[in-house]
Amino acid sequence: MKCRRCTAKATVQLRSHNAAFCRGCFLFFFQRNVERSIEREHMFTRDERVLVAVSGGKDSLALWDTLIELGYQTEGLYLGLGIGAYSSASQAKTERFATDHGVALHVVPLEDEADGLAIPEVAAATRRQPCAACGTFKRHYFDRAARDGGFDVLATGHNLDDEAARLLGNVLHWQLPYLAKQQPVLLPTHPRFVRKVRPLFRTSEYESATYAFLRGIDYVVEECPNAHGATQLVYKDLLNRLEHTMPGSKLAFVTDFLRRAHPLFNAAPDAGLGECERCGMPSAGELCGYCRLVAEVERRRHATAAHS
Ligand code: SF4
Ligand SMILES: [Zn+2]
Ligand SMILES: [Zn+2]
Repeated sequence: MKCRRCTAKATVQLRSHNAAFCRGCFLFFFQRNVERSIEREHMFTRDERVLVAVSGGKDSLALWDTLIELGYQTEGLYLGLGIGAYSSASQAKTERFATDHGVALHVVPLEDEADGLAIPEVAAATRRQPCAACGTFKRHYFDRAARDGGFDVLATGHNLDDEAARLLGNVLHWQLPYLAKQQPVLLPTHPRFVRKVRPLFRTSEYESATYAFLRGIDYVVEECPNAHGATQLVYKDLLNRLEHTMPGSKLAFVTDFLRRAHPLFNAAPDAGLGECERCGMPSAGELCGYCRLVAEVERRRHATAAHS
């Protein structure tokens, strides 16, 4: 098998693109695809400051590495979720990456923040699934860090597999408001929000894992222990089976949706977003989702203390 670009011996086969590449040409192909996504979707320019949310996994570190290589102005944000050994390992790998690349990293350990709540405590106190609490916390802290740091844009490492699984879930349940918001670029709906972008939305998990491996990036391989049994994994498994039989299906599913179907879904305007009475972040009600969750933890703790 020969490299499509230089005809040297190929080491990476991409069935979805009906192509194979040598190491150097694959890295070029990966970076160029990310750069094209950024430019075509008007995600950001080299004059803007980008905050990259990094988890220590292959996708976010591959994204950060690519943005650094392409000459964008980036800083990293690591949110310490307090999920045991998984969080310690992912923080260590993220810090090592930042040190090795000489880039700034902001580490926010949830247990050290004002509310002092890590994900396992919130999930236990509110009897919610950890991922539901985690999503609310991530959104809040990512938005706040981007605003406090004066960044123009927040970038996350969601890849093609994530986007395809999300799209399948939204279509299966005909979640019209979510379908309207499923885009690689979300423009701010309040002056305290920044633009949110997903530069890897056309890049598969296999491609980012291969990129991270070939670039020698030391990422956390273990999944978060709460990921097991998540519905998203069922969707990913289904899509992987489809992809195996029909290479390129995931890419076509997501890109054809964005090109042909997305314009048919009208997002309801986030009209009347005010500010949360407790934290000051944009909110549709008196309290934002994050503060409502924290208040619920406090209420339940008081109730438990009163009965003991
Ligand atoms: S699997 Fe769930 S708890 Fe773990 S990092 Fe992801 S969203 Fe958070
Ligand atoms: Zn080549
Ligand atoms: Zn709030």
